[in-house]
Amino acid sequence: MSILITGANRGIGHALSRAWQSSGTEVIQTARNSPGMEPLDVADPSSIKELAERLEGQPISTLVCNAGVSLDKFDELETGYAPELWAESFAVNVTGVFLVIQALLPNLRASRDAGIAPKIAIIASQMGSQNSPAGNRFIYRASKAAAINLGRNLAVDLESDGIAVGIYHPGWVATDMGGDSADLTLDEAVPGLRKQIDELTLSETGCFKSWDGSDCEF
Ligand code: NDP
Repeated sequence: MSILITGANRGIGHALSRAWQSSGTEVIQTARNSPGMEPLDVADPSSIKELAERLEGQPISTLVCNAGVSLDKFDELETGYAPELWAESFAVNVTGVFLVIQALLPNLRASRDAGIAPKIAIIASQMGSQNSPAGNRFIYRASKAAAINLGRNLAVDLESDGIAVGIYHPGWVATDMGGDSADLTLDEAVPGLRKQIDELTLSETGCFKSWDGSDCEF
């Protein structure tokens, strides 16, 4: 059993890596530029291709698409939200998620063939919810809404492959992205998030859950 995590060098990705490692699970930690980790820039298709080539033939039982950016925190409706921010945010939060999953499908299938049920966890956000819009942060919200949509549709296409897809809201967590006033520490949120991912099966593929196991609004 091995778990691959994108953006494993800090924040939630790093804490998830540590949690699985501490219980003896092999974790392939990937990061843009971090010594000892597999290099992976999810916004760079050639970097994704190179990772897939390095990992060819190696089963991956859980793929955690965690890497993400939040670039419009201080933007104003009238003056902000520049096109470059849209492009960069979608390259990481949406296209990057899709391309990493696409590139590593053979590894997930190899896990299935070895008898370990494969799964994909997409770390999205409640901020991508369509049903409970709160205004502002248009780029981040739209990118996470797209990530949720991606997860829902991949769940349909991958069910016959035996690959479960879960979509998760990690809570509002104190990280570089979440900031100091967040509701939760990493120590509070990450064990719950890990539990939700560990418990994901095909019977609930396409689910959108919070770190505490409650259902999130789409
Ligand atoms: P951080 O900002 O602390 O960490 C973000 C991680 O993503 C870093 O490891 C960063 O690497 C990596 N990353 C960014 N761009 C790329 C890229 N192009 N290629 C590879 N890695 C990249 O954020 P969090 O840990 O808080 O967030 C993790 C996930 O959880 C994100 O998807 C976020 O949207 C989501 N989330 C977080 C919430 C929170 O309250 N913290 C709430 C809801 C969702 P680098 O060091 O190279 O920049």
